Order: sequence, then structure tokens, then C-alpha cells
Amino acid sequence: MDVAVIGAGLAGGVLALELARLGLTVRVLDGSGAGQPAASQWSYGAIAPFAGAAWARLQRRHGDLGWRRRWFRPWGAGAALGGRLPLPCSRVLAERFRQQLPLALARAGVQCREDRVLALLPPTGEHPGWRLRLAAMVDLLEARQVVLAAGAFSRDLWPQLPERLRVSWAGVLLLEPQQGGWPWAGPLAMRLPARFQRLALEAGAPALRQEAWQVDPGLLPWGEHWLAGQISLVRPGLAAGAPPDAALQEHRLRQALAPLLPALLHWPGRFQQVPVSFCSDGQALVGAVDGAPPGLWAFAGFRAAFTAVPQLAPALARAVQAAGG
Ligand SMILES: Cc1cc2nc3c(=O)[nH]c(=O)nc-3n(C[C@H](O)[C@H](O)[C@H](O)COP(=O)(O)OP(=O)(O)OC[C@H]3O[C@@H](n4cnc5c(N)ncnc54)[C@H](O)[C@@H]3O)c2cc1C
Repeated sequence: MDVAVIGAGLAGGVLALELARLGLTVRVLDGSGAGQPAASQWSYGAIAPFAGAAWARLQRRHGDLGWRRRWFRPWGAGAALGGRLPLPCSRVLAERFRQQLPLALARAGVQCREDRVLALLPPTGEHPGWRLRLAAMVDLLEARQVVLAAGAFSRDLWPQLPERLRVSWAGVLLLEPQQGGWPWAGPLAMRLPARFQRLALEAGAPALRQEAWQVDPGLLPWGEHWLAGQISLVRPGLAAGAPPDAALQEHRLRQALAPLLPALLHWPGRFQQVPVSFCSDGQALVGAVDGAPPGLWAFAGFRAAFTAVPQLAPALARAVQAAGG
């Protein structure tokens, strides 16, 4: 195997497609079936207008990956015209992406294995490649190069990653349809935060002395459901730690959304939390891992992952190819 990609979320999935396009033998290992949650699964998936071309290109090559053009209204503090003006944007439907990615990877010849990587063993004189210890496999897997695209769990596999790579916990409500319909009249344009408060929270992470949280109000269709969110919680230090108290986080989220749509205070829904990687300086980890033996790469910690990943993945894939040649 030329390259092992650890993680089949947005980052690992799109990168694996690019690596395969360059003719490399790629295997993706993903632990989401083994209890390692994926941030990509619960994302709003909103992307900046300029990134539409990169998604259109990906879909031309690999079929539908869930990218759609949409209208939205800005919500919350700072919304121009009180959010009455619909604005164009595009969005990747996260549940559709999750369904379609395995099919696109299979068509591209990428081997996928549902398994959790427990440890990474660097090359030695006897073993020139990187070796991976997997949860459900006795033998070690060997690859010439390894890409860490394990999102919030990347540091578990290589603790020396830069300190700017950190983890927040994001919480959302999956609203349940009720017999009488939804708590709004007629069709509703999706709502996105007018300003993402999360960015200031992330920038201040290195100076935090106690945990801090913020709500970025959003409301988006989600298959048969609607997704309402998002509450972000950041702790001091580098470890994700245990999930925050779900009842408290849900209460905070509902309280923050109620002034925008009062029915959300009590509307039936399931609260979900996932850890999300970010870099406190806003610069994602993209490239060879500093201080590691050759052949270890990182692709994690994005500020606007659905915008950035399709733009960055082709260049990273070329760098990995050049290093292996
Ligand atoms: C509610 C919410 C709203 C968001 N809204 C937006 C938005 O509008 N726009 C935007 O750009 N971003 C948004 N984000 C952020 C975005 O979703 C994430 O930054 C992005 O999905 C991260 O992708 P990833 O592939 O790096 O990580 P993940 O999606 O977390 O994928 C990592 C994968 O690695 C696997 N893994 C972990 N450890 C191991 C291991 N040891 N062995 C094997 N596999 C492992 C996991 O199972 C997982 O599948 C949002 C996030 C949330 C939660």
C-alpha cells in the first residue's frame, strides 16, 4: 500500500479520492463504526460561494456527494435587515455525503476498512514503512506513507502534533417532525448564523482558564428532520475529554434559540454532540508532520472545512505523491 489515510470524514474522504486519482494505492481506515464519532456527520455543511467550483468538479468526477445550491437567511446578532433578505449559498448535505462517499471511494479503487487505528509505529531499519495497529486485526498493516485525517482524534495517534490543534465539542438538536407540521407557517428558508461566534472562542482557546461556550444559531432541513444548532464548548488544554453534560448543553442551546423561534424551547428533538478539531490560529494542519520521521502527514483542524478541504486536498495529494516517488 502506498498511503494509509486514517479517518473517512470530509478530510480523509476527499483526500483519498485525490490520492487515488494520482494513481496511488490508497486504503482508508475509519473508526466511526467503532465509536469514534465524525464531525462531518452532523455538520451544517455550509460553504463559501467561491468554493462551489471545487465541489462541482468533485461531483463531476465522482458523482453526487451531496453538494447543493441553496438560499439562506442570516440569523441572530448582526443579521442585516433583520434577516429578511434571502442570500445565495451552497451546502453539502452531510447525511447525503456520508451515504455517497463509500460508493465514490469504491469506484475510485480506494479500499476502505471499518476499523479503529490504535497506534502508529514509525519506520525502523527492519520495517521501512509505517505500521498501523488496528483494533480488529492481529497483524500490523504497513504503508509507505500515512495521513492523519482523524479530526478530533488525530492527537491520540501522534501526541506531538502542534499545540494550536485543539478540540471543541459541538452540539445540535435533531428536531422531530410532529403531526401538525413544523412550528412555522409555509416554506422556510434555512437559517445560518449571521456571524460565527465560534471563531472568537477558538482564537481565545490557548488563553482559556476554564471552559467556555457559544451558540451560533442555525436551522437547516435534514432529511425528514430539521437540524437546530449549534452550541460549541472549548476547554483549556489539548485533550477533548469526556462529552460535556448533554442536558445542560441542550438547555443552553434551546435558551439561546428561543428568542429567534420560541417553539424551539420545547420542540421534541434529539441532542447530539461531536468533537470537532480546529486550529487556534485559523491555519489548518496540512502537510508533513514537523519533527516526525518522513512519511507522516496531517490533514485536520480546519476553520471552514467544507470550503477548505476540496481546495487543499489536491495540493496535499500531489505533495504526498512527490514524497513517495
Ligand atoms: C453542528 C456542526 C456544524 C458545522 N457547520 C459547518 C459548516 O457549516 N461549514 C463547515 O465548513 N464546517 C462546519 N462544521 C465543521 C466541520 O463539520 C468539521 O470541521 C469537518 O467535518 C471535519 O472533518 P474531518 O474529516 O476533519 O473530521 P471528522 O468528520 O471528525 O472525521 C474524522 C474521522 O476519523 C475517524 N477516526 C478518528 N479516530 C480514528 C482512529 N483512531 N482510527 C480510525 N478512524 C478514526 C472518525 O471515526 C471520523 O470518521 C460544523 C460542525 C458541526 C458539528
